[in-house]
Amino acid sequence: MSTRPTELSMLARGCPGALRLYKEGAPQDRRGYAVGSAAHRMQAALASGVGWEAAATELVTRGRIGRDAEPPLHPDDVLRGLDIVRSWVEKHGDPVGYPEVRVGIAADGTAATGDLAVIETPIDLVYDDVEFGAEGEEITVICGRDYKSSWLAGEQDLDSLQRRIHAVALWLAYPEADAIRVEVAGLRTRQVYSQTLYRGTDDLRVQHWLHEVLTLAGALLADDVLPFAPGAVCLGCGYAIACPAAWSVVRDEGADPVLRYAVASGVAAACEPLAREATLEEPRTLPDGGTVGYAPQDRREVTGEGVATVARAWTNKHGASAEAVHALLAAAKIGVTAIEAVAKVLLPDRSMAAARREWVASLVEVATSPRWGIRGRP
Ligand code: SF4
Repeated sequence: MSTRPTELSMLARGCPGALRLYKEGAPQDRRGYAVGSAAHRMQAALASGVGWEAAATELVTRGRIGRDAEPPLHPDDVLRGLDIVRSWVEKHGDPVGYPEVRVGIAADGTAATGDLAVIETPIDLVYDDVEFGAEGEEITVICGRDYKSSWLAGEQDLDSLQRRIHAVALWLAYPEADAIRVEVAGLRTRQVYSQTLYRGTDDLRVQHWLHEVLTLAGALLADDVLPFAPGAVCLGCGYAIACPAAWSVVRDEGADPVLRYAVASGVAAACEPLAREATLEEPRTLPDGGTVGYAPQDRREVTGEGVATVARAWTNKHGASAEAVHALLAAAKIGVTAIEAVAKVLLPDRSMAAARREWVASLVEVATSPRWGIRGRP
């Protein structure tokens, strides 16, 4: 019997019941993943020399096929996925045909194949790299890359359970390599984050990770109950609509109102895209006469002439020196969004994105104020 990093990550998220629903094949709300899923498929197609046209046709007619099969995708989502891949290619060049390796980790902590495996992890094997070690000698590095389509893909993904599984799997499967490098490639952010582990230096660390991974996998495989743990974790859970435990908390009038609110928010958030889709053309009237859907709403906006008038009035009174401009911006209480908009005008090219982010980051600071709402685990 084997398990996969996705399943272990679901377990680590805090509600084993989600994994139970996954295994039972309960309907999962995957709409939030459609664009990313299309981008992944398209990227793999380009890497293997298949044109994007063939992959796009397959996605809109048959959906994703294979082990993680998915129903056909909406053409808009497929084209958005293609845009993401094109933007990646613009910065990093055409994807090379990286082979995907499947590495198993057996219960005795060795690399395994077939039924022996308790954890099986697919990784895009990027390349065998040669670099120089501390003593200046050439060393061989084997590198595995995981493409992420989330906007949130970042440095923190290097310290995830999934990354530890990848690192352990590479470490065991390529004992001849002097070092292994795990990479997270953000398809949307176009950034690559990496961590290199060296034999002789990081052995103990990898051993710890192996122990953690096997412990979790063992718990997962041994537990045929997988209890539900409704809470803040329901917000963002793809099973919120289908989950009996979540609905039972929502319906339970005797339940803790705070817990009930958190779980109900998860269910409501899962229902919202469905309700939006159902009211795309026109608002719907509910039995009580209320309506749900888009309705025109007035909001006040400054006219183009209004901006010019303010500038004129200010310079008439205070002049046009740098101090006067500074005082104007301070009086306008310029915020982070406005600074970001100005940065885009000052540094407009895509190649300046990193410099733009750095500039903005150097101008803002974090202020803390109380805000009511639901947050995940710290
Ligand atoms: S909706 Fe909540 S209780 Fe149900 S599986 Fe998801 S996280 Fe668990």
